[in-house]
Amino acid sequence: MSTFLGMPGRAHAPAGVGMLHADRPFPAAARAALGDVQLRRNLGRATATIRAKRAAVVAEVPHWEELREAGRAVKAATMASLDVQLEQLEAAVTARGGQVHWARDANEANRIVTDLVRATGETEVVKVKSMATQEIGLNEALAAAGITALETDLAELIVQLGHDRPSHILVPAIHRNRSEIREIFTREMPGVPPGLTTEPAALAGAARAHLRRAFLRAKVAISGANFAVAQTGTLAVVESEGNGRMCLTLPETLITVMGIEKVVPRWADLATFLQLLPRSSTGERMNPYTSLWTGVTPGDGPQAVHLVLIDNGRTAVLADEVGRQALHCIRCSACLNVCPVYERAGGHAYGSVYPGPIGAILTPMLTGVEANPSLPYASSLCGACYEVCPVKIDIPSILVHLRAEHVEAVAATGRVPSPEAVAMAAAGWVMASPRRFAAAQAASRAGRLLGRRRGVIGALPPPLDRWTSARDLPRPPAETFRQWWARERGGRR
Ligand code: SF4
Repeated sequence: MSTFLGMPGRAHAPAGVGMLHADRPFPAAARAALGDVQLRRNLGRATATIRAKRAAVVAEVPHWEELREAGRAVKAATMASLDVQLEQLEAAVTARGGQVHWARDANEANRIVTDLVRATGETEVVKVKSMATQEIGLNEALAAAGITALETDLAELIVQLGHDRPSHILVPAIHRNRSEIREIFTREMPGVPPGLTTEPAALAGAARAHLRRAFLRAKVAISGANFAVAQTGTLAVVESEGNGRMCLTLPETLITVMGIEKVVPRWADLATFLQLLPRSSTGERMNPYTSLWTGVTPGDGPQAVHLVLIDNGRTAVLADEVGRQALHCIRCSACLNVCPVYERAGGHAYGSVYPGPIGAILTPMLTGVEANPSLPYASSLCGACYEVCPVKIDIPSILVHLRAEHVEAVAATGRVPSPEAVAMAAAGWVMASPRRFAAAQAASRAGRLLGRRRGVIGALPPPLDRWTSARDLPRPPAETFRQWWARERGGRR
């Protein structure tokens, strides 16, 4: 594997494979989502609840800022020596009886996993919730090979039975309420109890009975991993339901698919992340289930253990000095829950398996910005995501960095500049000269003829209506700051 990170021509994730390429730009998808009142109600309620829980448990930790800094530092050091860490991980997993496979992209990863399942002779697998396998479109690839993949995380099961797409990293069915879930179970779940109600206990009971049958017949399981310890070869999955642990312990073969950035150097590093992750994600002090396994233990658990390490654009992200901190993400979803754009538009609008603020930076970097050019603009740059991120990823700065990359890419093509680019160029020219700036301010006074009743200008003629179609424009003040200054200070500086 030693040439894996050193491969010439680091590539972005291939188009058309997996769930990274949006089928329409964010503004169009968000506009459609904003019209869905039920979706906005479900999202608003769910994100408000998680936000409050997170804030309460984070406030209990007096050294929270030091923990965040420790998490950031471990991730930054890991990225600086990723090739070394991955080689150590491979050696440690292999020494304990596991097998490591390397996949440059989604196609390669899907082929490896499909071949591994085929070799067992099985046509059904159970799955632990995994972002990496969604990213590469593994379920679809397995289905094409005649292999059924059954999601066992409750929310993922709801999404799968509903022939839907996940809309949140942690709570993939956050856009569904209880009535909708009952309807999906009644329609799609084999052996669903007659007269199923919308009571959470009844819904969970139906899912439990359905999944228990699958766990007991499964010979092969597929998981992701939250962390992999290079020092020991240990893989870790944290979850809330225990369904993951069923998958990780009962089957004979366990295949784990993991992005290369999930490695941490030392066992002791888990102590930092296992404090940061549950508080930031579910608002719990500790995850109900933390499963750790190291290679094969004879007579205990799966006797064939595979680790598939995927690149799929990550080395291209690593090469970006500003953007590489996106690889520090521990997928807690705290940034989604505080984001005003996510809360209103929902996860599907991002068109990628990674929604919200982290998706707005990670997806375009994995695919190349020009494959998802609207995502870096899916933010108000309010900074709330940075405030809550447990590993201190500076998402707003990366958004600005990616916007600049997009603007430069458009300029380099020689295409006609966008109206926004023309407006910015004009604003730059005006602001570069005090005389021009004063003249523009004087001209803007004409705007005071508008918006007298509400104090804001709600509608302007084309092309300025592109601004007022989505937001109000403040009415120009009766007096500019310069005029106020001259009046108050008599021109003194
Ligand atoms: S970017 Fe930070 S807050 Fe958002 S999911 Fe990743 S670790 Fe969590």
